[in-house]
Amino acid sequence: MEKHIVVLGGDGIGPEITTEAVKVLDAVTCRSGHKFTYEYLKIGGCSIDEYGVPITEDNLKRLKECDSVLLGAVGGPKWDGCPSEIRPEKALLKVRKELNLFANLRPSRLFQQLSGASPLKEEVLENGIDLMMVRELTGGIYFGERCTKTVDGEEVAQDVMKYSHHEIERIGRVAFEAARKRNRKLTSVDKANVLDSSKLWRKVMHQLSKEYEDVTYEDMLVDNAAMQLVRNPGQFDVVVTENMFGDILSDESSMLTGSIGMMPSASLSGNTLGMYEPIHGSAPDIAGKNIANPLGTILSAAMMLRYSFSMTEEADAIEKAVNTVLNQGYRTADLTKDPNNYVRTKEMGSLVAEQLK
Ligand code: NAD
Repeated sequence: MEKHIVVLGGDGIGPEITTEAVKVLDAVTCRSGHKFTYEYLKIGGCSIDEYGVPITEDNLKRLKECDSVLLGAVGGPKWDGCPSEIRPEKALLKVRKELNLFANLRPSRLFQQLSGASPLKEEVLENGIDLMMVRELTGGIYFGERCTKTVDGEEVAQDVMKYSHHEIERIGRVAFEAARKRNRKLTSVDKANVLDSSKLWRKVMHQLSKEYEDVTYEDMLVDNAAMQLVRNPGQFDVVVTENMFGDILSDESSMLTGSIGMMPSASLSGNTLGMYEPIHGSAPDIAGKNIANPLGTILSAAMMLRYSFSMTEEADAIEKAVNTVLNQGYRTADLTKDPNNYVRTKEMGSLVAEQLK
């Protein structure tokens, strides 16, 4: 297979970590015969510096024409004073909207070798953590009508949480399909005991579940889900929920594993085009020092192979390579307390790539 990948390094540590992910993708091509070509485009602060905007219309067009997008991170103190309409993060919202990236997938996996980093107690971690949060990304309260007005001399603000049948159905399908690629269990999180939008959510999910009888399906109220995530995270496989609940629960679930540099994510459009990025930001405090952990980005590249290119075996191989390198005791600076014994960004990328050759 031949695939054309746009690499958006972005700012801070972004270019360093995407370089290592590309190194690993190249190692995949050596063993599989696939061919990946790369196009490097600017996004975020570096695009503001060069073009005056966080992403140009031309670059947006090129994103729509590629097979998949690998992103580092955007932003940093240099651009904090920019007017809000041209801040680096604006580019991400624009890309999500233009590419119709309505589904955000965030796996949270506890690497046993790093279990000490988890804030949870040992006995809670007995069943491990290996879950995937599927969050609806372009609907709900963040995109509903909002206003602030004065009523009877008092300020009143409101935000509308709105979902249509088709918005729920398409994110539901992504979640059921993701469950099919994993352990075939899906938990749908809502607040159907109170909210009408959640009642519709639950109704549509139940309808869909009849098409996916090979997937074990359950409903869970959002307050219970927040509690179950810290009480027994091992019970979950795939969790699907609307935008705001997902915003909160996906941050909670990714912190369960304790290591921000390890966490990948995917934003999908329902066809094969997706954007893949680590969950962390541009880490300006360590940029340019060759000490950032590239594993979250490398694991994001593995997600790209799995979800955009259906290269399951190759995705598995990257994940296995990461596991092996950790088993061998290699750690980046963020994963160890020993200041004299860690591997640098480039070395970690090479160690993973070497496993694949
Ligand atoms: P951050 O995630 O960049 O950093 C938080 C802490 O984690 C820092 O101490 C950093 O050094 C560390 N860290 C993050 N990634 C790491 C890695 N791969 N290896 C080792 N250590 C790592 O969050 P922040 O400091 O709040 O934000 C910095 C900038 O990133 C801001 O401008 C913010 O707006 C932006 N940001 C961008 C994205 C994105 O591009 N998707 C997401 C979040 C934040």
